[in-house]
Amino acid sequence: MSNKYSLRGLRDKYLSPSLSLSYNQPLHLVRGNGQYLYDEAGREYLDAVNNIQHIGHCHPKVIEAATSQLKKLNTNTRYLDETVLNYAQSLTEKLPEGLDVCFFTNSGSESNDLALRIARHYTESVETIVLGGAYHGHAISLIEISPYKYNGTGGKGAPDHVYEVPMPDSFRGKYRGPKSGEKYVDEISKILDQLRNDQKQVSLFISEAIMGCGGQLILPPPFLKDAYQLVRESGGLNISDEVQIGFGRIGDHYWGFDSQGVVPDIVTMGKSMGNGHPLSAVVTTREIADRFNSGMEYFNSFGGNPVSSAIGHAVLNVIEEEKLQGNALKIGSLLSSMLTKLKQKHSLIGDVRGKGLFLGIELIRDQLSLEPASIEAGEIVNKMKEKGILMSTDGPDHNVIKIKPPMVFNEENAELLVNIFDEVLMKYEIK
Ligand code: PMP
Repeated sequence: MSNKYSLRGLRDKYLSPSLSLSYNQPLHLVRGNGQYLYDEAGREYLDAVNNIQHIGHCHPKVIEAATSQLKKLNTNTRYLDETVLNYAQSLTEKLPEGLDVCFFTNSGSESNDLALRIARHYTESVETIVLGGAYHGHAISLIEISPYKYNGTGGKGAPDHVYEVPMPDSFRGKYRGPKSGEKYVDEISKILDQLRNDQKQVSLFISEAIMGCGGQLILPPPFLKDAYQLVRESGGLNISDEVQIGFGRIGDHYWGFDSQGVVPDIVTMGKSMGNGHPLSAVVTTREIADRFNSGMEYFNSFGGNPVSSAIGHAVLNVIEEEKLQGNALKIGSLLSSMLTKLKQKHSLIGDVRGKGLFLGIELIRDQLSLEPASIEAGEIVNKMKEKGILMSTDGPDHNVIKIKPPMVFNEENAELLVNIFDEVLMKYEIK
């Protein structure tokens, strides 16, 4: 490190000022292992937030797959190559019958941008239905369909081709309670009616089955099932964004859409797919992929290269070998029940939700008004970090504390997290 500048100074000088830095006292991490991270002083942190390092930081099987393939060959998809083909085959075996054609990309944003292109081409339309609070990526095309961004700080609102369903939040949303799912379906019907009246064709509906940036929200049934049916009947395509929740994270199912009993036309994935290596994909049906094949080549310099494919395949294998989906179910259920118990004690906890190792704790100031406890959420995440546990906040009001650790998170980790969380919450009102 230069004497002249601290790391913070160098960062301010050389990196984009639009980047954010976690925690009031930023962390300088130098090493990772499994669910643990270590700072420059050797202090250990329990990582409860990095869902990208899905099978654990620095997993030996990923290192081995990457290095052995790097030593052998790295090219692109313009050659015959068994590494990419074996991977594509194994990946599609994890998806429902019919979803079996892969386009490999390098980030969740790239996947969603390509999915939009494919759907727009298929439907010859751009009219897009999104969920309030959703985030689908940083490209222009995706900021345009991400209410999280276009309605957030610095955002410029939705463009004309984007139609927003109020965030299907049964706790604090426009419609609340157990029957709210049906009311959110009515909202989608209204959008489709409006499109018909305006003589416009719906192109696509894109959503996650459990909203990540929206605040770990499970879409209230029968919302997704009915929404898919209505969109399909109107000639539109359904896209499931599995960038955050795919690959067994939610425990009871491998994919988020599975947990809602729907089959999308296009699936997009990323983040966990390469355990931190930039690897993502769009998977669709033969019919949709063939229609997209208009004569214009789809070429991607890095997408689906042999090194990325070897890494992706290693991740798929480790999920099976180490039974990580089962672990997510077991540890996630334990965490969820321990946190739900804490809710009886701490009035700040409004809602505990999510599935598997994708959980959210929504903090509120008042049980009646449900006023979001955004400042408190930020304070708590910083306190947890001081005590050695890394978490983050999200949701439109940034009052939802998220738990989405590497999938090797164990019982001891879960108990430690809940005990420290309980201790940190003691500063606030007790019921
Ligand atoms: N979709 C969802 C649901 C996401 O959460 C994200 C990233 N947070 C993206 C897409 C974009 O992925 P990336 O950052 O890899 O471009």
